[in-house]
Amino acid sequence: MKKFETIQRTMDNGQIVAIPSAIIEGAKPGPTLAIVAAVHGCEFCGVEACIRLYQHLDQQTMAGTLRMAMVANLPAFRARTMYRCPIDGENVGRAYPGTLKGTYSELIAYTIWKEIVGGAEYVLDLHGGDLIEVLTPYIGYNTTGDSALDDKSEAFALAFGAENVEARPLDRDAPKFSFSQAAPLNGKVGLLVEAGSQGRHDEPDVRFHYHGILNVMKHIGILKGEPEHKARTIRILDDFIGVQAEVEGIFYPKVKANDLVDEGQILGEVRDFTGELLQEVTAPARSVVLGVITPLSTFEGAMLFGLGRLREEARVES
Ligand SMILES: [Zn+2]
Repeated sequence: MKKFETIQRTMDNGQIVAIPSAIIEGAKPGPTLAIVAAVHGCEFCGVEACIRLYQHLDQQTMAGTLRMAMVANLPAFRARTMYRCPIDGENVGRAYPGTLKGTYSELIAYTIWKEIVGGAEYVLDLHGGDLIEVLTPYIGYNTTGDSALDDKSEAFALAFGAENVEARPLDRDAPKFSFSQAAPLNGKVGLLVEAGSQGRHDEPDVRFHYHGILNVMKHIGILKGEPEHKARTIRILDDFIGVQAEVEGIFYPKVKANDLVDEGQILGEVRDFTGELLQEVTAPARSVVLGVITPLSTFEGAMLFGLGRLREEARVES
């Protein structure tokens, strides 16, 4: 069975939450994989990957079920706005568990969990490069201290086939969660996938999502065959460091996404309109530059770089 449907819920104030969704149920039984794309509405590569999965997957060859929320944050997708839902100004990426009677974003999270994610054993949260970001592709998962779940999560993550793999402890005390965090919180395997830049849907980034999804579907047995990987160097990252501006000013990055930087290395500068140096931005640890924020303007507390602290590098043969 292969079906597309826009799931709808109407709020008390008449606003409608609408989630373009798809289900592909294989001819044979097996596990369920849930995919959530465009929690940030202009991170388009994951949406395009879902569209291709819907078109190309043959349910006759599948053992198990794929459920997709193809655009989680439809208001942002339509309005082409970044980071937040334009209806309530909230971050849908921090809206789980959500509620039926809360804000618009909370109802998005609640609906997606109820209809798409809740019944799945495996969850992919597809992100990548909002309108002012240039990223290098990476994936991330959260460890829980439950070694059986953590081992499953690690194997699932490595099956995806990325070069940059972030693994960090789940913060159970956080007030709200992303879908990739909510998964291990509920005993599921969850993976954050990040590829894309500046609201574009460049082919290599779309393929990163698409091929990685096929790989994990093979890994968990929904599709036949083994994950296909190129020989690669895997960088294991054990923390995400958001480097921020300390002052308002003009921002000049000096490194690029995917650069490996040493502790103390200069990443960029913030200057004033006369060219006077206001802040020299340095790396707090040996890291991979996962993302660079691209606008010329910055302000106090604004993100400048996303770094993944490097734990180890390992060469993997195919
Ligand atoms: Zn995102």
